[in-house]
Amino acid sequence: MSRCLAERSLDHVVIERGEVANSWKTERWDSLRLLTPNWQSRLPGYGYEGDDPDGYREMPELIGFLDRYAEVISAPVRTHTTVTSVRAADDGYVVRTDQGEWRCQTVVLATGACNIAHVPALAEGVPPGIATLTPMAYRNPDQLADGGVLMVGASATGTQLADEIHRSGRPVTLAVGEHVRAPRVYRGRDIEWWLDVVGLQDERYDEVDDIGRARRVPSIQLVGTTERATLDLNALRHIGVKLIGRLAGIRDGKAQFSGSLANQCALADLKMNRLLGTIDEWATENGLDDEVEAPQRFDPTAVEESPPLGMDLANGEIRTIIWATGYRPDVSWLDVPVLDRKGHIRHDGGVVDSPGMYLMGMQFLRRRKSALIDGAGDDARDLSDHLVAYLGGAAVATGA
Ligand SMILES: Cc1cc2nc3c(=O)[nH]c(=O)nc-3n(C[C@H](O)[C@H](O)[C@H](O)COP(=O)(O)OP(=O)(O)OC[C@H]3O[C@@H](n4cnc5c(N)ncnc54)[C@H](O)[C@@H]3O)c2cc1C
Repeated sequence: MSRCLAERSLDHVVIERGEVANSWKTERWDSLRLLTPNWQSRLPGYGYEGDDPDGYREMPELIGFLDRYAEVISAPVRTHTTVTSVRAADDGYVVRTDQGEWRCQTVVLATGACNIAHVPALAEGVPPGIATLTPMAYRNPDQLADGGVLMVGASATGTQLADEIHRSGRPVTLAVGEHVRAPRVYRGRDIEWWLDVVGLQDERYDEVDDIGRARRVPSIQLVGTTERATLDLNALRHIGVKLIGRLAGIRDGKAQFSGSLANQCALADLKMNRLLGTIDEWATENGLDDEVEAPQRFDPTAVEESPPLGMDLANGEIRTIIWATGYRPDVSWLDVPVLDRKGHIRHDGGVVDSPGMYLMGMQFLRRRKSALIDGAGDDARDLSDHLVAYLGGAAVATGA
């Protein structure tokens, strides 16, 4: 957004509580690699220049990439400045920070979709003696006690952590709810390449039937590795991870799991096959069948006929529970009445329900890819157009 505003000669500042790439520097586990390939992190006027476009960045490389981008575009970033409140004023907004106050006609909320790791209310029932952790606090398996781990949630984070922790010798039980399955590589190409060329990542928020639902769809079970490995439930089961239904409650030291595991897996298999069918059709229509490998279908997810519906958390088998149950934005500093009853910011494709206020980086904000690094550019172009029209071309932002 800073680059797009600069292109339009709009005076602005970027306020950051930490440093550039702060979330990648401070909130991720040690072994994390992006699950999007290198070529896919395209920012306005900037992209991957290395010799491994299909690889997946480790954190130091990604941090370097974002640091360089901020330098190249001379982004006016004020680091170590925390926004403590944003409120409406007669002529725009007053942004209060721990380093002073700013007045501006427009404000872009770009504080991210993943500030808080979501922990379900049932966590209150976890008996003492079991350590609980969120992915934001997790760094590596050495942090955990020896013994069993219950991983709650089987999307990108849960499956990646289950794999790493199980391989460290701590037996993992994975509680599986709704999830999205996909192969890492399909017909010789990265699945993200297909999602991109077929146009699925560009699908717009005003083109889908139920945008509320689309915004809640969990992340795809994907991992970035040098082997370009698929990390689905079959792969986890193969190394010995135990699959169990969705965690439904904890009572008197006992965890209760839903009986829906087989259904959830069948549904994920069905949706994956539908996606692969869409890709195959697109490949044929676009004359790619001779260029890429032949269509393929994968084994259905194998699950136990009747997985246990209960687990005694007090018998010492489980020493740690990890809540891989999603992330939430933190907008507790926003003192403008734009939240709906669920606490989400009311907006139309990033144009917030308050004049001159914009939102970036949320799930399916304007496009399916909006919450990916690759989605920021197109959204910033659209929203900066809107912002310019709103201002009638005037340049603003005054420090006080
Ligand atoms: C575990 C994990 C893995 C991911 N993997 C990928 C991937 O492989 N590929 C991909 O494209 N995307 C991935 N994402 C999504 C990724 O977070 C986004 O693509 C990207 O970080 C969005 O950038 P952003 O600037 O919107 O948000 P963020 O990167 O979260 O940046 C928001 C910034 O706002 C700052 N901030 C927050 N509150 C305040 C405040 N009150 N005052 C001042 N500053 C504040 C934060 O310090 C932070 O630097 C992943 C996310 C997670 C959680």
